[in-house]
Amino acid sequence: DGVVYSEVRRPCRVMILVNPHSGRGQALQLFSGHVQGMLTEAAVPYKLVITEHQNHARELVRKADLSQWDALVIMSGDGLLFEVINGLMDREDWEQAIQTPLGILPGGSGNALAASVHHYSQSPPAWNEELLLSCGFMLCKGLVGPLDLVSIHLASQQRLFSFLSLAWGFVADVDIESEKYRHVGAIRFLMGTLVRLATLRVYQGRLAYLPVKEAPRYPKGNAKAVHPPAAPQRPSLCSSLPCQLLPNASPNQNSHRNHTSANSNHNSIANSSNNAITTKRAEAQSGGRSGAPPDSLLAGLDQPVPEGWTVVREEDFVLVLAIYQSHLAEDLWTAPGASADDGFIHLFYVTAGISRPALLRLFLAMEKGAHLACGSPHLVYEKVRALRLEPISPQGMITVDGEMVEYGPVEAQIHPGLARLVCG
Ligand code: ADP
Ligand code: MG
Repeated sequence: DGVVYSEVRRPCRVMILVNPHSGRGQALQLFSGHVQGMLTEAAVPYKLVITEHQNHARELVRKADLSQWDALVIMSGDGLLFEVINGLMDREDWEQAIQTPLGILPGGSGNALAASVHHYSQSPPAWNEELLLSCGFMLCKGLVGPLDLVSIHLASQQRLFSFLSLAWGFVADVDIESEKYRHVGAIRFLMGTLVRLATLRVYQGRLAYLPVKEAPRYPKGNAKAVHPPAAPQRPSLCSSLPCQLLPNASPNQNSHRNHTSANSNHNSIANSSNNAITTKRAEAQSGGRSGAPPDSLLAGLDQPVPEGWTVVREEDFVLVLAIYQSHLAEDLWTAPGASADDGFIHLFYVTAGISRPALLRLFLAMEKGAHLACGSPHLVYEKVRALRLEPISPQGMITVDGEMVEYGPVEAQIHPGLARLVCG
């Protein structure tokens, strides 16, 4: 209707949070050496914020005027994004706040989301600076897609939101113990794995989960509501964002489905569950976060697991790993079928009795996503929507997105497409 959009739309603004101590402590140099020029050339205005301490980013986004920003971008490892997501979910206006597009630029030693996003773009594997360039390029393109989050309850009633993983046993131990090798970069996980193999131990606990019932995914009557007309294009970060670097910046043609509303999706999952408990009960479980989305699939840690859940018979584990992105680290393609918004928790566990060489083989095969083809009788893989883990061993570690959390029973459930992610 005659409006000249380039004149009425303000330029896109991006806040880039850099953790100067992540990885080898070179995030700032990596930014100025590889990303800065790219953003300038693509005319993407940004503000650089250097974090000063742990939880600085969380506090900052909790209070930020989000109307000022078209995207929050993290230049660090996965730990800093975990802070940002939880800062957004701390807010009174979480429902709107969590819609702020989130971007990742690999600057840490654990860059699982960056590796995953790069993988989703169907590009051949890349590491280090090449991975950084790929993620910088995606930021310049500015396409945005939905991102699943997982809500996690700890015994202390604390509630966390996670975008990557929940780990117990071997993987959690490697995550935390290998932090002292952070200066070597991503190879810290291989070093940690070798060290942990030497002191391999068994962890006792109980595991239960709500399996995904394969098709039909949604109740038929709701088909219209949950499959809105496919958007012609994946929404972009900012409509005025110039795409000079890639004139034909178009959405991933092979994207398995289009979302136009994260919330319609989330509601449909809750409604379709036979195990849904009352909203009231779920709200009581909000973990001090008033209004945050209820976990309708969870019963509460003080209750028996709901009907329809599978209780794992074994109680002796080497590891339990719930992952909701494809990669656990730059060179660990852990959940080959995963995508950012498939609505699944990919649950892996390894039962006791596996030999050291067999466990090492699994991790080496994971580089090519071939661990499930190893035929190990100790490795189990399930797609689930919710799970509960109750450690019995008095000592151990649990990590969420690679960060250590309180050790004890945990429950978790997926919230499909709750957040939004800058992707290829
Ligand atoms: P890495 O992949 O190297 O572990 P992360 O992004 O995971 O990098 O960051 C590691 C930890 O550092 C996280 O727990 C994060 O909260 C914390 N952190 C963020 N900024 C700072 C800072 N300025 N100083 C110290 N720690 C920080
Ligand atoms: Mg980390």
